[in-house]
Amino acid sequence: MRVELINTGSELMLGFTVNTHLSYIARQLAGIGLRLDRQVTVADDRAEMRSAIGEAMQRSDVLIITGGLGPTSDDFTRDVVAELLDRKLVRDEAVASHIAERIRRRRIRLPESIYVQALVPVGAQVLPNRNGTAPGLVIDEGGKLVLLLPGPPRELKPMFEEYVLPVLEKHFGAQPRFDCRTFKVVGLAESIVEEKVAPVLADLPDLELGYSAKMGEVEVRIISDLKSTADEAEKRIRTALADNIYGVGDARLEEVVVKMLTATRQTIAVAESCTGGLIANRITNVSGSSEVFINGCVTYSNESKTRLLGVSEKTLASHGAVSEEVTREMAEGVRTRSGAGFGVSTTGIAGPTGSTPDKPVGLVYIGFATSKGTTVQRHVLTFDRETFKFFVAQYALDAVRREFLKK
Ligand code: ATP
Ligand code: MG
Repeated sequence: MRVELINTGSELMLGFTVNTHLSYIARQLAGIGLRLDRQVTVADDRAEMRSAIGEAMQRSDVLIITGGLGPTSDDFTRDVVAELLDRKLVRDEAVASHIAERIRRRRIRLPESIYVQALVPVGAQVLPNRNGTAPGLVIDEGGKLVLLLPGPPRELKPMFEEYVLPVLEKHFGAQPRFDCRTFKVVGLAESIVEEKVAPVLADLPDLELGYSAKMGEVEVRIISDLKSTADEAEKRIRTALADNIYGVGDARLEEVVVKMLTATRQTIAVAESCTGGLIANRITNVSGSSEVFINGCVTYSNESKTRLLGVSEKTLASHGAVSEEVTREMAEGVRTRSGAGFGVSTTGIAGPTGSTPDKPVGLVYIGFATSKGTTVQRHVLTFDRETFKFFVAQYALDAVRREFLKK
């Protein structure tokens, strides 16, 4: 079965808007075992649209088109599709009253042109738009589906999950699907991951294997048309990578950590120098983190390390801020002063300046204090500042995760 996607919008072709619909829709489709075969982006230009849509209709069993359903003069996806399929556009009264109702609730005056969004190609199914006025449209053209979806992400996404996925499931229920699984790995370099995984999967037929190195983690992806093959591959990957796998699919490390802390009723506090609050930021991005997160201190200066964390001036003077000793005192200081179960600290030289002969750019220490003692990791991470901060945060969060894996 062939699935194609056309994203429309001049702003996409001018580089003002990143085409997030492509990755979003591709991932959603993969989730139900459908693979995107081709994607094309076109500007808001009738002729370009007509040829792109016309060609894609010839080839595909499912054609998804995004954008250009609005009321302005640059929105004509609906027109072009109706024309190509030779279907009249008729006013759908239910859609018209949904539009009228939205206008009434927002107490604004909108031009009559807004009602072009109530025009529906004859025979099309209407997908409600909870977050906007333009509905989605599904046209069944002799068993092939053409789907028109609104451009704004906050309209498209809920509509996709609520209506589009069920429509596709229902229409193509009996078609063979592929099984796509992603494992998220932390603490191993991409080449090491491959070294561990590739040999154990070598004899499995019809298995597609992929690796993507992301910031501070590696994704291992398997794709197979057979569930039994995917199951076997998953078993072997889990054995090969063991505790280095922190999650699957869209899991994020901070989510996993907050979940572990919550489940064990543990609390955490962080003292950050070189990460500048990133660890606290990532933890507090997770809903429910208030149950486990006590506080974070961004102690960038030596003086603040002493004043807020109780790091001794003597330690700072004799070892320097970027040292195992100071990192240890920071982790222990934030833990005792906050009353948290765990204390995490970071200090390092993000660069490009600030290095000394015995302390290179990229040198970083990560401290982790618990009631049982304190450990300090040392790394040298030579990246730009933002990547450096992310990596350090990743290692720090992973140190917390690994504490829970100890027997
Ligand atoms: P509207 O009623 O807002 O005009 P529409 O269905 O006509 O909706 P567009 O005009 O194509 O949709 O896009 C509206 C907005 O949605 C764009 O300004 C852009 O910010 C966003 N958008 C559209 N397509 C994409 C895309 N592929 N990826 C990310 N954002 C997009
Ligand atoms: Mg528009």
